[in-house]
Parts: sequence; structure tokens; C-alpha cells
Amino acid sequence: MKLLARADNSLQASIWADTLRAAGIRCELRNTALSGAMGEIPFLECAPQLWVERDSDAERARDILQQLQRPTQGPLWICSSCSEYSEPQFGSCWQCGVARND
Ligand SMILES: [Zn+2]
Repeated sequence: MKLLARADNSLQASIWADTLRAAGIRCELRNTALSGAMGEIPFLECAPQLWVERDSDAERARDILQQLQRPTQGPLWICSSCSEYSEPQFGSCWQCGVARND
């Protein structure tokens, strides 16, 4: 077993676990029942933890989690048509609807 990541909340943790399982990686969530105790124990100790069963899966699992988080991270992008700025998670310009073109 290997600790892969700590999630911000149990919803995020279960999304991560579902995604890994869909990719064929056996994993387990721990600490999900402890979030109600937050404030009494240090956050890192009660944050939901995602563990992978096989150490050899850890690297691939990490890649998958990174891809999962990528859409909402990164810089703003500039529309090639109207030059408006859009948030990284959008695949097309919010103003004119032209598809993102990196
Ligand atoms: Zn545009």
C-alpha cells in the first residue's frame, strides 16, 4: 500500500478513487469518516487519504490525478478570434464561442 494523495474533502477523494478504479487501479480511501472531527485534530491528519494497493501503480495513478486537476489550473488563454481572455477550464471562448486553439 502506498499513500498517493490527500484530498481537500471526501467528495474530491471519492471522485479520485472512482477515476482510478475506472482505470483499473485498485485503491482505497482512508480517513473519510473523520472529516467531522476537523478543527479538533490537525487538518493533514484528518484529510481524506487516497492509497493505492500496489506500489507499482502509484506513478500511473499520480498522472491520472494530475490530468483530473488540470482543467481548472493553468493560465488564462487568449481567444484567437476576438482576443478576449478565458478561464483555463473552458474549451471555447466565453465571448464569441470560437474553440480554444493552443
Ligand atoms: Zn473570442
